[in-house]
This record gives sequence, C-alpha cells and structure tokens, in this order.
Amino acid sequence: MAKFKAPVIKNQEFEAEVVDLTYQGMGVVKFEDFPVFVVDAIPGEVVRVGITKVQTNFAFGRVIKRLKESDDRNHNVDQATLTTGIAPLANLTYAAQLRFKQNQIEQLFKKMHIDVPVNETIGMENPIGYRNKAQVPVRTVRGELTTGFYRRNSHILVPIEDYYIQDPEIDKAIVVIRDLMRRYQLDAYDEATHSGEIRTVMVRRGYYSHEMMVVIVTRRNKLPVAELLIEGIKQALPEVKSIIQNVNSEKTNVILGKTNKTLWGADYISDTLFGKTFEIGPMSFYQVNPQTTEVLYGLAVEKAALTGDEMVIDAYSGIGTISLSVADKVKEVIGVEIVPGAVADAKRNAKINGIDNVKFELGKAEEKMVEWQAADVKPDVIFVDPPRKGLTPELITAATEMQPKKIVYISCNPATLARDAAQLIESGYQIDGAVQPIDQFPQTTHIESVTVFLKK
Ligand code: SAH
Repeated sequence: MAKFKAPVIKNQEFEAEVVDLTYQGMGVVKFEDFPVFVVDAIPGEVVRVGITKVQTNFAFGRVIKRLKESDDRNHNVDQATLTTGIAPLANLTYAAQLRFKQNQIEQLFKKMHIDVPVNETIGMENPIGYRNKAQVPVRTVRGELTTGFYRRNSHILVPIEDYYIQDPEIDKAIVVIRDLMRRYQLDAYDEATHSGEIRTVMVRRGYYSHEMMVVIVTRRNKLPVAELLIEGIKQALPEVKSIIQNVNSEKTNVILGKTNKTLWGADYISDTLFGKTFEIGPMSFYQVNPQTTEVLYGLAVEKAALTGDEMVIDAYSGIGTISLSVADKVKEVIGVEIVPGAVADAKRNAKINGIDNVKFELGKAEEKMVEWQAADVKPDVIFVDPPRKGLTPELITAATEMQPKKIVYISCNPATLARDAAQLIESGYQIDGAVQPIDQFPQTTHIESVTVFLKK
C-alpha cells in the first residue's frame, strides 16, 4: 500500500478560515481536509498560516497574518503571556472561554450517546490573578539570572514579571526574590550542563490568611549567601512566614526534590477553606484556586443534599478538603487516598479543626472500594474526585454494588467523566438534572464539573 503523504510541507503558506478549537485551545484550519493546528487562532478568523511541523495525520502551523478577526478575541493580554504555556485560552474573551468549556463537555457526552443537559459554566467574577501558588523556573537569560515561564512546548525561558493568573502579591514577591538573587550574584541552574545553583522559586500565599511561604529549589545542599537572602526576603516581604530550601540534585523535570530545610520561620503556612484551617507544607497538595474551590465543593455538598445521618465515602480524598467540609453535615466520613503525605496532612487537618467523625485510609481507591463492599459497608453518599484518568471499571462496580443513594462525581477531565457516566448509567444510576461545569482554572484549558448520579 502506498504510504499516505501529507498534502502540506514545512514552511508552506496558505489562507484559511479557522473552523474549530481543539481541547488544547489551538485553532483548526483545513488544507484540502487535512487538519492543521494553529497557535492563537480562533474559530471564525481568517488567517494566513505558515506550516511549522508536519506529522502523518495532521500538521502544526503559526499565524503569519490575521486577515479577519473574531469578536471573541481578547485584546487585554500581552504577547509574552500568550507565547508561554501559562494561559493558553487567554486569547479568548472570558465569555467565550466559558462557552468553550460547556461545549467541550456537551460534545464528549454526545460522543458517548448520553443525552444530558450541560449547564452554563460558572465563571469567576475576576478571572485573573487567582492562583495561590507559583512555581517559576530560574535561568540565565542574556547573562542575567531571570525568572519567567517556558515558551509553549519548550524549555526556553520567557522573562515575565506579570504572570496574569497568579496572585499579584506572589508576582511581586518573585521579582523581589529575583532581584535579591541578582544582587548577591547567585547562579541560575543550567539544564543542559546540570550546573548552577537556583532551579526554581516556589511561592504560596494563603487567600484568607495572607501568609506566604517561599521555597527555593537548589541543585546542591549548600545555598550560598543564605543569610543575606533570608534577611532581604524578610525585610521586603513582611507576609512571608516560612522560607524553605528544597534540594533537588537530580537531572529531571520534576520540580521538587525530597529534602526540605526550613531556613527561617515555620515549616507550614495555614489558610482556610469553608472556615476550616488547613496547614500547607512545601510538598502538600492544595487547591490552587481557593475561590472556586469553595464554589465547586460547596456545590458538590449542596447537590448531595445531606441531612446529618449519612455515612459518606470520599474516594481520592487528598488532604481531606471534601471530607472535612462535609464532616459536620453527616454522621461519618471515610476517605481513601494513595499518597502517604496527603493522608498525613488530612489527619492533621482533621485534628487541628477538632473533627473526629472522619477517618482517612491509605490505599488505592479502586481496591479499598472492593474491600468495603466485601465488608458490607453501606455508604449513603460517595464523593469521587479522581485525577484526570478518571475511575476504573472495578471501582464503579464496587461503588454501585454498595448501592449508595447518590454518587457525586467531581471531574477534572470531561472525557473520562463521560466514559465513566456510561458505566454508571448501565449500573443502575441516572444523572440528576444537568452536568455543572465550574471554571476552576480561567485562561487555561482545564475543565472541572460536578455531576450527581442518583440510584434509579
Ligand atoms: N479533593 C482532594 C483532591 C483530589 S485530587 C483535595 O482537595 O485534596 C485527586 C487525588 O487522588 C490526589 O490527591 C491523588 O493523590 C489521589 N489519587 C490518585 N490516584 C489514586 C488512587 N488510585 N486511589 C486513591 N487516591 C488516588
């Protein structure tokens, strides 16, 4: 059989209308039916495209000239932001982003032949500056230690001071720390030669508490001029409650190493969610958009319509955010989580808040669920908040055989949600009302939603 040959070649140029947007936020144009994915091109726009890379079944391109512009284009974002991977949907107006997310979910359910309404995406009032955590690479650019963000699909650092979606106080702190590092002539890490000192600066800031933690990730144990650096950070950033050095001597893309040393102040910062206190260490997972997390979990809890007598399972319990926020509305909660550190955080968080009707178990949700079912555990409500890969068939079987009245599914990936919904429906459950998207990550392609499955 003759090998299929792409109808375009690198550097070829042509004009076309953008007909679609991929789930990664790239514009789709066609050259004789052959799809070309184009960065920063919006449906309805007409563009002159230059082919940058050709694969067997598709190609990539860039906009050489925009001949017709869409009304959905957002002009209030600077080019540096768009060239990095930090805010891939920022070229769309916020209203268009919300429609895009709702539409993605609709399409995925349609593909699974599930007929269900999808509500309008609940958005943020002010969809920028929301992230409570930043991890920025530190590299040498034109001979100078620089902080910023990687250009899309690369490890080339674009210098940035305004990160658009991070808490502006965090952005300011990063500039202060960068300037101190310049002043004391610290060496930025060099990936190619695995040399230099400073790899990453991570900053977290409590949304309610305003407590800040600075984590400096270094290649070696020794952090030169640590004393001066600490003094400078304390002076310039009074919100800082904790300065930590994390050592990562590996040649890896993984940001944090295993060793943490508290250079100054506390080992944790705290923040609140639903009025409950959470202690957050350098390695802890904590939701990065505290404002919408309250909306998301608040909605999940509201949709569960708890009466106070329920036995609840929180599968994928993480640091216990869902368990602890429902604890005072139910009889008891059991959480299961695979990461030991998260289970330890969850237990500590329960204790700090004086909550004693929750239990956290370490393990795989899919295995624990089967054990519980075998032990005849009878949950009234099961919350699932799985990672992107969604649930396993075994977990769904075990969960539905326990016959809870409700399964509340919090999803960060509509593709696996729609797949799992099909099995849940086959197993005797039906969707209550509509799927509700909530924009946890404005300006990015991430899509969160809550769906309630009721026992038929
Ligand atoms: N609601 C939680 C976060 C859920 S994120 C919170 O706010 O803290 C998904 C969680 O599932 C992560 O904590 C991840 O470590 C955990 N996880 C991933 N695979 C798992 C599995 N097979 N069994 C149990 N937990 C798992």
